[in-house]
Parts: sequence; structure tokens; C-alpha cells
Amino acid sequence: MAKKARKVTPMIQQFLDIKKENPDAILFFRVGDFYEMFFEDAEIAAKELEIVLTKRSVDKNDPDPVPLAGVPHHSCEAYVGRLLDKGYKVAICEQVEDPQKAKGLVKREVVQMITPGTVLDTNFLKEKENNYLVSMAQTDNKFGIAIVDVSTGDFQVTEIEKQNTDKVSDEISRLAPKEVIVDDNNRDCYSILKKFEEQGVLITTVSQPTYRKVIEIMKDHFKVESLEGFGLGDLNGAVTAGGVLLQYLLDTQKTSLEHIKIVRPYSTDSYLIMDSNTRNNLELCETIRQKRKRGSLLWVLDKTKTAMGGRKLRNWIQQPLIDITAINRRLNFVEAFVDDYILREETGQALERIYDLERVLSRVIYDRATPKDLVGLSRSLEVLPDLVETLQKNLTFDELLENLPNTNDLADYIKQAIVPDPPTSVKDGGIINDGFDKQLDELRDLSRGGIEWISNLETKERERTGIKSLKVRYNKVFGYYIEITKKNLELVPDDYIRKQTLVNAERFVTPDLKEYEDKVLKAEEKIQEREYQLFQKIRSAVITRIKDIQDCAKFVAEIDNYLSLAIVAVEQNYVRPTVDNSRTLDIKRGRHPVVEKVSSEEPFIPNNTYLDNGIEQIALITGPNMAGKSTYMRQVALIIIMAQMGSFVPADNATVGIVDKIFTRVGAADDLVGGQSTFMVEMNEVANILNNATPKSFVILDEVGRGTSTFDGISIARAVVEYLHQEDKISCKTLFATHFHELIDLANEFSRVINYSVSVKEDDDEMIFLREIERGGTDKSYGVQVARLAGIPNKVIRRAKEILYHLENREINEVPVTGYQVSLDEVENKKHELVDEFVDLNPDELTPKEALDKIYELHEKA
Ligand code: ADP
Repeated sequence: MAKKARKVTPMIQQFLDIKKENPDAILFFRVGDFYEMFFEDAEIAAKELEIVLTKRSVDKNDPDPVPLAGVPHHSCEAYVGRLLDKGYKVAICEQVEDPQKAKGLVKREVVQMITPGTVLDTNFLKEKENNYLVSMAQTDNKFGIAIVDVSTGDFQVTEIEKQNTDKVSDEISRLAPKEVIVDDNNRDCYSILKKFEEQGVLITTVSQPTYRKVIEIMKDHFKVESLEGFGLGDLNGAVTAGGVLLQYLLDTQKTSLEHIKIVRPYSTDSYLIMDSNTRNNLELCETIRQKRKRGSLLWVLDKTKTAMGGRKLRNWIQQPLIDITAINRRLNFVEAFVDDYILREETGQALERIYDLERVLSRVIYDRATPKDLVGLSRSLEVLPDLVETLQKNLTFDELLENLPNTNDLADYIKQAIVPDPPTSVKDGGIINDGFDKQLDELRDLSRGGIEWISNLETKERERTGIKSLKVRYNKVFGYYIEITKKNLELVPDDYIRKQTLVNAERFVTPDLKEYEDKVLKAEEKIQEREYQLFQKIRSAVITRIKDIQDCAKFVAEIDNYLSLAIVAVEQNYVRPTVDNSRTLDIKRGRHPVVEKVSSEEPFIPNNTYLDNGIEQIALITGPNMAGKSTYMRQVALIIIMAQMGSFVPADNATVGIVDKIFTRVGAADDLVGGQSTFMVEMNEVANILNNATPKSFVILDEVGRGTSTFDGISIARAVVEYLHQEDKISCKTLFATHFHELIDLANEFSRVINYSVSVKEDDDEMIFLREIERGGTDKSYGVQVARLAGIPNKVIRRAKEILYHLENREINEVPVTGYQVSLDEVENKKHELVDEFVDLNPDELTPKEALDKIYELHEKA
């Protein structure tokens, strides 16, 4: 960092030495009340945090002063947060000895490394989102992935076949980690992670320990003889990733990881599989364009009252189940709430009083909890008996209540120990209740006695000296003193010792006063010490109950989810779906959960869906732009997802035969990612579907083949439909929206293809969208009418219709020239150009703006 050897002050040398050990982090170097940053760190901090960059000279004549930037230590959180947000790591370097007692330079050490994936502070964390730190490893034939949320203690591992890199990438994208750890020379892993790095995820490289070492790390941490008990017997990849992750945490956190009690292996195959495109396209947790929750499925379903519930619901939406028993179990709980208004109300009121148990717990473990946190913990635990009592009224919940640990003793203990409204900081004292600890009570009596003696002193001394204006006061420099105004000085008794002279008064002490003051101050100091000790004792008591508190947190989150889904079901009029092993998808009067909630102008029109693998496998949906095709197809996918996550669904009736994977190919706004052409992206997605769909999958194809010329497009679209239909290993339920009317004929040729169209009524040349999906195809595209809706001038529309009429009648070369005043010669030439250009156009592919621009352009040329 210091490019040339230079003479620096001992402190700067200390900074450089510590920096050398932590080269990839911004070093927050504690100097008094500030964290200071030097050299490049200072430059980065100044730029990213918009703080002043100054220079510190090593001596007066220093020609090359050191760049310096600083932030006050008491408000450092916001600054650290901003740096983490931008993908930096921050090393917090504290003074680890009392500066007043230090001989020479005060000792400093890095006490914590904060990285985007290991943040704990609630200021930086989103309440209802997990903050995942992921590690990725590779064994001979598998990729291992390990995930931890340090703020909750959730630790999971999985592995995926080596050839299936897309699946690895989908899984990482589902987790949306802030940071991924990977072996520094693993190219395969790195090439998967590159895309995430470009999106701003911090990729931290470490050197992967040997497998034997990895096993040791895991066994040591979980204090077990073998990992078999966790079901990790032969999951070498998963174990490796897990060990790498733990080692990283041990290296950076420098504190206990006690809340990571278990490691949970999971298989991506136990959930409904969706690739990252599909998750994005279906706007499960955020919208495609604005990237916000409002307008997503989560937004509709999230009525959770606790942060824990909020996080779990997000996971449920992202990972719907495929096991019928598990799905129906969830549905039973939701139904119990749906059926009982009072149960909903009472449960909701109880849940509202529960704090984020998981995150409080991790703050306790990391010794970052405030007294307020512990009071919050105890109050939350106190709510549980009420919650249990409420839920006991319905037998359905018995199964959940059975294993709920009893934590009343811990709640009581904290309540007895800590005052109801404690200060935020542990160091301030005033945390512990009177009567909780004998020693503390004695110290407090001593201090109170002393203070009382001092406060009586004023009256006593006024009487003794006859000075009415005599005052007993306190300040930080002198402690307690007696203040006498100048004019009364001759009355001062002999035992007063002068301390300070002011303009109008003098300040004195007496030996007694000093003695009592000493007692008080000593007692205060001891009180603080004792309170701190007691606080640590309470903290340890909490730590012995980590597992119980985690179980309670899980229980609360689960109940919160059932209640949330039930509230939405009641408010939005959803029904319980029948989820079974059939291959049938039968939805009566289904609705789109988000569109029906946001469309205030027109009422939402429900539609039926029937698909199976036997007779009605592929539905081809034709209809003009804006008719509602995409909405309809997404609605079907969302209903499947909702049913399989255990939610009621927006329909009058729904039977959902378990779906193993959902694929979507829709022309989304983000088609241009990665610099690939729209068509290439489209074809990649189609290839993925054709290679991975199974007979239990559900596929949505929206306008496949539009990114190329019409004939290419039709050919590809047709071949895809044929393949999905014919290949026994696929033949999955498919909704295919297309504007290629040529495809309608497929229904005659293939037994399991059926035509649908979205109905449109023409009324006096006006087009009215009825939004009903009807059997039978349509061969009208209404592009010109849609252009009119977009506000294209009537004159242009009239002309377009005229051209269209001729084109439809195959009179391409005979488009009459009307409405435009030009010479006939010119017309002959221009006509061809104009028509050629028009023929090349694909109205369905144009946005209204592009259509308008194009028409103006044609108009101009004509
Ligand atoms: P397409 O895919 O056919 O171009 P969209 O599905 O994008 O059409 O629908 C266009 C608009 O129509 C949507 O913005 C939506 O608000 C509205 N819409 C779609 N389906 C319905 C429906 N069933 N009921 C009411 N409005 C709908």
C-alpha cells in the first residue's frame, strides 16, 4: 500500500501492519472517538461515503502526507452499511487496551470482519428477507452448495450434478446471496459465479481445505463423532461446501457460532423446480421492471405479522412443494384459520406482539444484544402460552403444539432480572431490577446512602455556617464541591478546603464530602461492573436455550404463514385446491391474483383451464395483442405455485395434479441481458424447456418464434409444438400463445392439441376485449385496431386498413394509392418500397410507440 518505503509514525505503521493481515477489507481503525481510514482505504471511503478526504502529515515538513478520512464511532453503522451495500468488506479494528493505561502506542486488533454476507446489524438487514452467505465447492462429480443466514442461524447444504451448471446457477439465483465464497482456483465454480459478480454479489475467494480437514471442521463445530446423523453420509460436495463456509465464518467472525446448531441437507428435487427466468417472469417476489415487492405474488400473499413469518413466506413462494402429504398438511392449517374468524383474530393479536426471535438470538450469541433486546425476547416468549391456548381450541394444531418447547422459565427469569424499559447500552447501568441480586442491592444501598448524605449536606452546612446561598454541586472535573459566593467568604469554616476560584464565588470541599463522594463513585463503578456481570449471566442463560428459542421461532413463523395465507384467502375469496397425483389441471373460473388486485378500471374476468396429459395436453391460444393471453397463462402458473406452496387459490374450484417443474418462455423486458440477441435468448430458453421438461411439467410459451422472420418463426413454433406433443418423455401440459394463425391447423393434425382464443367483440369498428378464453382459434389479429387504441391518427389507421385488406387478399402489388396526393410515377416506385416494408413488419412484435414511429416513417416516405 505504501508504495515506497517511507518513515511513518508508529500509529501509521500499526495501521499498515494490520492492513497487511486484512488486505481485502476497508480497515476502520479506531482512534479515540473516531474510526479513521488511511491511504487507499481513505480514498475509497471518501468517494463511496461522500466524506471529506484530508491529509495527515507525519511531521511538519512531510512532503507526502497520508490520505485520511474518518467517521465518528457512534454513528459508524450507517457508514459500514453503505460500504457493505456496495460490496466492500469492513474490518473493525478497536483499541484493545485502555489508552490511559497503555505504555506507548495503544494496542489495536481487528475484532470483527463485517462482510455483506455476515452482517448482523438490523440497520443493514431487511426484516422480511434472509441474508444468505453461500459457499460453493466442487468434488469429482458434484457441485456442493452451503448456505447460512448468520442473522438467524439457518444452515443448509445441497449438491447438484456437475453437468447441470444451469441448475446450480438457478439455485444461487433463488438464494439471492450477498456474498459467495469459493475456492480460489476453481474455474468451473468461478465461471458460474461470474454472472453474479457482474450483478454486484461479492465473490470471496478462499483456499479450500482438504476433505479430511473439512470433515474435521464440521464435526468440531457440531460436536459430533460422525456427520451421518445429519444425513450427510455421502454428500461429499455438500459437506465440503459446508466446511468451507464454517471455516470462513470462524475466520471472520472471531466469535461464537453457537446458534448454528444443525446443518440441514436438502435436495433441490424435493421442490417444484423453476429456473431463474421463470421465477423472474412470474414475478414471484418482485416485479420485473421495478424490482419491487409491490405487484408481485409475495405482495398479495404477505400478511405476516412477524419478521420470521415474512422470511419463511418468501421461501415458501420460492420453493413450492411436490409432496402431496406435505402440501395438504399446510392446506389443513390454512383451512383451519379460514374457517374461524375468532381464531384468526386472536392468533393475529398474539403474533403481533412477537419480536424477531431469530435475530435477537444471534445478537445475543455475538454479544451484540442490548438490554432492550432481552426484554423483547422475554416479552415474545411470554406471548407463546397465549398463542398455544388460542391454537388449542382447534385440534388441527395439536401436531404443531406437541413439540413446542416450554420457555416460560426463561421469560420469567429475564423479566425478574431486567427492568421493563432498560437503556439501550449495557454499559450505562440501570438495567437490573432491584431485588434480583443481593450484591447489587447492597452496592445500590451504599450509593444511595452516600447520595442522600450529600444531598442533606447543603441544608446541614447552611445551618452550620449561616450562609443561605451555600450550594452543593457536582461537576465532572472536581466531583462534588461546596460553592460560596464572594461576599460570604469570611463565614467559611476552617475545615473547608479551597479547590477553585471563580469571578463571584469560590469552591470548596471537606474531608467528609470527599469520603462520601469516594464511596458513591466506587459504589457506582462496582454497580456498573456488577450489572454488566449479571447481564452476561442472563445472556448465558439465553444461550443455553438456543435450540428451544429456535424451535419457538420456527413455530411462530409457520403459524404466521398459515394465518397470512388464510387472511388473504378470506379477503380475496380464494378456495382450497385439491392437490393430487393425477395428471389433471382443472381450474374453474380462475383469476390472476395480482392483476385482479391492481386492476381498478375493469373488473377481472375469470377463466377456466383444463389440461391433462391424455387428451388436452397443449392449448394453443390465439387472440390479438392486449387481449389477455399472457395474463391468463401466468395466472395458471401462479395458481399451480400457490396450490403447491399450500395456499388457497383464486378460483371457484381447482384440481392441481402435482407439477414437478414450471417453465416459462415469455418475451420479457430483460431479454437483452448478457448482450445476447433477443432471438438467441428465446432459443436458449426453448432449448432448456425441451431438454428438461418431463410429463409432469407445466410449460408456458408466449409467442415463440417472434424474434426472427415470419417463416422461420412459424417453422420453429410448429416444430416445438410437435416435439412437446410427440415425445413421450415430455408430453407435458402446455399453454402456447401465438399470433401465428397458421398454427391453428395443428389441432387438426395432432390429437392432444386444442385451440383456444381470447374473445374480442367488434362493435362499430370499435374493438372490445371480452377477456374470455374460448374454445377454437381465431385468425384475426386486430393489429390495426390495437394501433388505434395506442392513439395513432385516424388517417393513418384508415390507410393501414386499406393496405391490410389488400395484403389479406394476397393483392400485395395492388395496394391502391388513396388518401395521399403524389404523382403516379412516384407512386409506382414508392408503392413497392412501402408495401415491402409493410410486409416485413410484424405488428405483434411492435410496441405501440414503435408502431407509431413506423407508421410515421411510412407516411413520410409515401
Ligand atoms: P396479451 O398477452 O394478449 O397481449 P395481456 O395478458 O398482456 O395481453 O393483457 C393486457 C391487459 O389486459 C393487462 O394489462 C390486464 O390488465 C388486462 N387483462 C388481462 N386479462 C384480464 C382479465 N381476465 N380480466 C381483466 N383484465 C384483464
